[in-house]
Amino acid sequence: MTLGESNLFPIENALEMILVFDQKGVISYANDAARKKLEYESDLCGRHIKDVFPNTFHAAEDGFETEYLFGNEPQNLTAYRKNLTCFPVEAKIVDSTLNPGTFICMANDILEKEFLSREIEQVRQENQQAMKVKSEFVANVTHELRTPVNGILGNVKDLLENVEEMDSRTVKSLRIIERCCGDMHKIINNVLDFSKLEAGKFTLEPRRFHFRNMLDYVKSKHISKITEKGLGFFMTVSPQIPEYVIGDELRIGQILDNFLSNALKFTAVGKITLEVLGTARVKDNLELFFMVSDSGIGIDKADKDKLFLSFSQVDASISRKYGGTGLGLNICKQLVELMGGRVEVESEKNKGSTFSFSIWVGISEEDGNALPQQGEIKPMLFSSALMDEDEERFENIRRYGTQENKENLKKNLSKLILCVEMENWEKAEMFMDTVRQLTEEAPQEVKRAVLRLKMAIQKENYDKVTAGYGDLNQLL
Ligand code: ADP
Repeated sequence: MTLGESNLFPIENALEMILVFDQKGVISYANDAARKKLEYESDLCGRHIKDVFPNTFHAAEDGFETEYLFGNEPQNLTAYRKNLTCFPVEAKIVDSTLNPGTFICMANDILEKEFLSREIEQVRQENQQAMKVKSEFVANVTHELRTPVNGILGNVKDLLENVEEMDSRTVKSLRIIERCCGDMHKIINNVLDFSKLEAGKFTLEPRRFHFRNMLDYVKSKHISKITEKGLGFFMTVSPQIPEYVIGDELRIGQILDNFLSNALKFTAVGKITLEVLGTARVKDNLELFFMVSDSGIGIDKADKDKLFLSFSQVDASISRKYGGTGLGLNICKQLVELMGGRVEVESEKNKGSTFSFSIWVGISEEDGNALPQQGEIKPMLFSSALMDEDEERFENIRRYGTQENKENLKKNLSKLILCVEMENWEKAEMFMDTVRQLTEEAPQEVKRAVLRLKMAIQKENYDKVTAGYGDLNQLL
């Protein structure tokens, strides 16, 4: 096989210079880069290789002489152009395995290579500088924006302290200004958080805090709007979570705030639920699992992947109708990851969505005594919210066939199936245990269906779980 036209195409367009010459030293092929850099038109072929490398090759009776042939390492040589000016190259000369008696020289212009790497380095530095300037700019602008917004808000609040002295139109306008300032505050804070997270400058500030007080505070911020919209709100917290945990209270609250305000924003009828479980303990660390569910507009399967991207809203008409910057979920995802967990979403268009996430918090020795010292924590059947209820209600939930029992069964089964969809088999097993407790007094056929479902979950067999779930649902 010869080095014919057809197999020369890739080397013809190579960036490095390629020359092919024979035993006599006569060049039989020069690629485009070689012709251009050595400033020949088409008259490079037929020349002797010593014309290009006079310091390297010398004419000899049987062709050429050189000391530089066949080294594995590239050599620093001097290449001469047609006009006898020269430039340094890094070259490798090998004999062709395809065509014995033919040699190939591959050479790179050293100055050009250095120039290119200097250019790349310069572009990299310029990019870094631009990123730094951008981050500083965003930080400065958001900080500067915060001051006047705080100023307006403070003054509006002062004025609103004397509502009795104002007519109702003025009060209404002031309330609108107050709300707008609140919204602007949220946007400014989001942009600031986002730029800090992007620049890797975000640090968590963990400290010991009262867990349920934090949840109550988050709830208090949304409850009036939830009731205004006529929605139901249910919060359940596993009693196994200690009163105090160690974590970044502000940021955990912020994540929940975001999920709850989205749930509120995208739900017109039905309910919103917030559930918190302790799911594992490793030494002085506790894994908390949060679920925020709504019965709102839901999210298309195809749009789910876009959700956590920055500035992403599922579609433009949604953002026009509901507002928002599309930064919230991305910030939540990054914060949750900083806390050692991850965010998941399960949703069905027009049925509702469940956003869940797990995070790790610390527990001090005295706070964690009631928990198992290591490993998975089994959820208890009744949450703290239910424990506060009277004995009768408690008994009704346990007694198979009552309204409360049915509702609880349904709730636990749908959570179980959600965990299976998310392939979180461990958590599915926990809900399975609760279902088993709720069906302790059920007829034999229901108990058998429960057992089949339990076995399918233990085997992590998705098809059998869905079949078993269907069977059980029919019996209930
Ligand atoms: P935004 O500030 O625009 O709400 P997010 O990042 O919090 O930004 O949410 C991004 C998009 O994800 C929303 O615009 C909406 O399309 C979708 N989304 C988030 N939460 C829900 C939910 N509970 N139900 C339906 N869609 C949601």
